[in-house]
Amino acid sequence: MSKEGKKIYDFCSSLFGINRSITGDGVRQTLGLIQKQIQSNLDVTEIESKTKCFDWHIPLEWNVKDAFIEDLSGNRIIDFKKNNVHLMGYSIPVDKKISLTELKNHLYSISDMPNAIPYITSYYQKNWGFCISENQRKNINEDFYHVKIDASLEKGSLTYGEVLISGKSKKEIVFSTYICHPSLANDNLSGPSLATFLIKYLEKAKKPKYSYRFIFIPETIGAVAYLHKNLELMRRRTKAGFILTCVGDDLCYSFLESKFKNSIADQVARHVLDKMNIEYKLYSFLDRGSDERQYSSPGIDIPFCSVMRSKYGEFDEYHTSLDNLDFISPTGFQGSFDLYTKIIDIFEKNNTYKNLVLCEPQLGKRGLYPQISTKKTINEVKNLKNLIAYSDGHNSLLEIADIMNVPIWELYSLTEKLVKAKLIEKVDG
Ligand code: ZN
Repeated sequence: MSKEGKKIYDFCSSLFGINRSITGDGVRQTLGLIQKQIQSNLDVTEIESKTKCFDWHIPLEWNVKDAFIEDLSGNRIIDFKKNNVHLMGYSIPVDKKISLTELKNHLYSISDMPNAIPYITSYYQKNWGFCISENQRKNINEDFYHVKIDASLEKGSLTYGEVLISGKSKKEIVFSTYICHPSLANDNLSGPSLATFLIKYLEKAKKPKYSYRFIFIPETIGAVAYLHKNLELMRRRTKAGFILTCVGDDLCYSFLESKFKNSIADQVARHVLDKMNIEYKLYSFLDRGSDERQYSSPGIDIPFCSVMRSKYGEFDEYHTSLDNLDFISPTGFQGSFDLYTKIIDIFEKNNTYKNLVLCEPQLGKRGLYPQISTKKTINEVKNLKNLIAYSDGHNSLLEIADIMNVPIWELYSLTEKLVKAKLIEKVDG
């Protein structure tokens, strides 16, 4: 059942160990591995450090070779190579003997989660630190330690990638996801992993109706930089936007609506959730936390919504080492994959139709009226008649499905039947 889910999970696992941040080789390596999975070109852009983008500047590039805390006998107590979450993101280089008192100012742990290593960054303030579990903290009690962070923080660039699958229309369905977290699974390696498999799904279809753009950026600064470069194009072409994040666990579903709750993306997502009978927690834009912040800023105004499993900030493991490969699962991914492929299918098949026969057409003479009536055929005729009744050239198939309170996917083949019988015709696309 979870065939695709297993593949997405395995791919996510293969990316898990890479040390990612908002800049650096981990991002490039991740993009390189995504490129290997897909046929489409993953277009990589580098934006130089210090470039001004709206109110922000691109930070220096950060890369890490090694980082550890060792006792004076050379035993590594905390080791970045064992878990990259140990190192505070954007830590400056350090190599010195340090007293326990001073070291404690640079240690971070969570008192009520003894096994968890917190994920902490300091992108815009020069600092260094180690994130450890409470259990590890108990063993750090000698007077002096040797701390080494073999990292570079220098002029380089910020890297992002994007894939465009061109359709018949230049209007785009945009999926944006971020690639800046180190070994953390649900938030957010699950996002780029699912995105990769949605690209593969679209590659299997022949030329789609819409174009599909997948954006892989570091969160926040990446969205700012991306918009700075692509705002006009994005404004002109975006039909619908989704942030892909937190799509790998199997605990629940969550839906974060767009700013004004009324975009076509909201409409489609809501329909899929409701008609798949999925129970979900509803969040508004007031609960936002990802790149919809930038995409929907005043003056930018591109609506984005998110269908997630457990939402960032809402699960205990969030931003800790416990958001790992055990927290996500093939089943979790499968749920998200099924949901997002249904969303894509709706964009592809949500046309507007117009009836071609004045007054109610006679279905019997066209072979559309069943000779034997069963519950199934009665229902089908009812749906056919309702489809005809609402196909006035104004209501889209999705709107009709909502009026009829049936899943739009149950109307796809009925619509085809009516088109074949020349009772309705497509008036758009
Ligand atoms: Zn995060």
